[in-house]
Amino acid sequence: MAGAGYIEKVLETVKKRNQAQPEFIQAVTEVMESLRPVIKKHPEFEETAILERIVEPERQIIFRVPWQDDKGKIHVNRGMRIQFNSALGPYKGGIRFHPSVYIGIIKFLGFEQIFKNSLTGLMMGGGKGGSDFDPKGKSDSEVMRFCQSFMNELHRHIGADTDVPAGDIGVGGREVAYMFGQWKKLTRLFSGVLTGKGLDFGGSLVRTEATGYGAVYFCEEMMKARKDSLEGKTVVASGSGNVAIYTHQKATQLGAKVVAMSDSNGFIYDKDGINLDTIKRLKEVDRKRIKEYIKEHKSAKYTEGCAGIWNVKCDAAFPSATQNELDGKAAETLVKNGCVAVAEGANMPCTPEAAEVFIKNKVSFGPGKAANAGGVATSGLEMAQNSQRLPWSFEETDNKLKQIMVNIHTVSSQAAEEYGTPGNLVNGANIAGFLKVARAMLAQGLV
Ligand code: NDP
Repeated sequence: MAGAGYIEKVLETVKKRNQAQPEFIQAVTEVMESLRPVIKKHPEFEETAILERIVEPERQIIFRVPWQDDKGKIHVNRGMRIQFNSALGPYKGGIRFHPSVYIGIIKFLGFEQIFKNSLTGLMMGGGKGGSDFDPKGKSDSEVMRFCQSFMNELHRHIGADTDVPAGDIGVGGREVAYMFGQWKKLTRLFSGVLTGKGLDFGGSLVRTEATGYGAVYFCEEMMKARKDSLEGKTVVASGSGNVAIYTHQKATQLGAKVVAMSDSNGFIYDKDGINLDTIKRLKEVDRKRIKEYIKEHKSAKYTEGCAGIWNVKCDAAFPSATQNELDGKAAETLVKNGCVAVAEGANMPCTPEAAEVFIKNKVSFGPGKAANAGGVATSGLEMAQNSQRLPWSFEETDNKLKQIMVNIHTVSSQAAEEYGTPGNLVNGANIAGFLKVARAMLAQGLV
């Protein structure tokens, strides 16, 4: 039978070559499992070793990032950029600054990014970067010096038509701006080399909101497919960073009530609905912990430990903090409490066991590479505006984002149906994302 044993063989090599990188192996395994029917139908992918090629990054760059703190003490962090696949366009993907960052995390994120970017329908390959630097508790000038040092090496490898980084955990508008400033100084170029820039220097309206808004648009499509909507629903969104904040904003605009949010220390529950202005001030301006919220809102309760957030009863859940934050047991609890839709705002926040529980129980489940693609899609729109040297209005950009999210839902649903697992958006997104990349790789020859 065509394809028999092929996927096992590829997975075996991935496991052997990438030992001690469990997140990368997890991400590859999920995609490979979805591709079984595709490999059966398309023997040309095995003949041309597409899977062996797609799991191996085109290039991995690892570098030293030395910087001085405010007291003059020298620190050394590790920086990295994975240029995973350029079949569809320049490498594109965020930069993460978090102490947990190592090559396995950046590779899992870069691998996911290939298929996510493909799903957006825009010309973007897949890449990701980061450092084990922790911006928490650092002064603005320390963060600036770190970003400049990071860019001192990274600038050799990126460019508007080569590789276009953006933000991710620990990298927001402030960090992108510092990196852009240093890129400009080193190269004497002003081009769209990073996305998520400030609006005054080439940034796009809606980019800040895009991932959260996109996740909610995607969830609304899943609700529509159930002949329902988010209006009047109770929502839980983990995290309180960029994705969670704008998930809250859009869900509220669509008539839902967001009752719980978290940070890495714990979660807050407010039965009246969490006040977003307070969260935005605490997190975006004051850079404080989420427990401070209860000092200002007596109706709210704080619980230590972020995983407890999944015990809160809700109709729809948006895990929007980090990988593997929602396990099988938490998924069972959500199902028991009547949750009908889960849209992954973060990358791979649900463990494979959790995803299985949702699918088995007919919970509409939007995997990250589909549900959170709005961020990179709007980065693609920022690149288009930079090339045109023209800014688009909020409304125009938001409409384009919405249309992209609707399309992603449609193509993922269609692929799931065509390849024999109707309603399974994990399979659908993996297959639809893969097919376009695989066809392009095939056409471009052995490179
Ligand atoms: P932010 O840094 O803005 O916020 C991250 C949030 O998640 C914070 O509340 C943080 O809490 C919490 N968090 C981070 N790490 C952990 C952890 N190990 N355990 C528990 N909580 C944690 O990041 P974003 O909102 O930008 O990103 C969140 C997720 O969304 C990531 O998975 C990212 O890859 C994904 N994503 C982001 C996109 C974007 O456009 N920003 C695009 C697509 C996906 P604390 O402050 O305590 O650290």
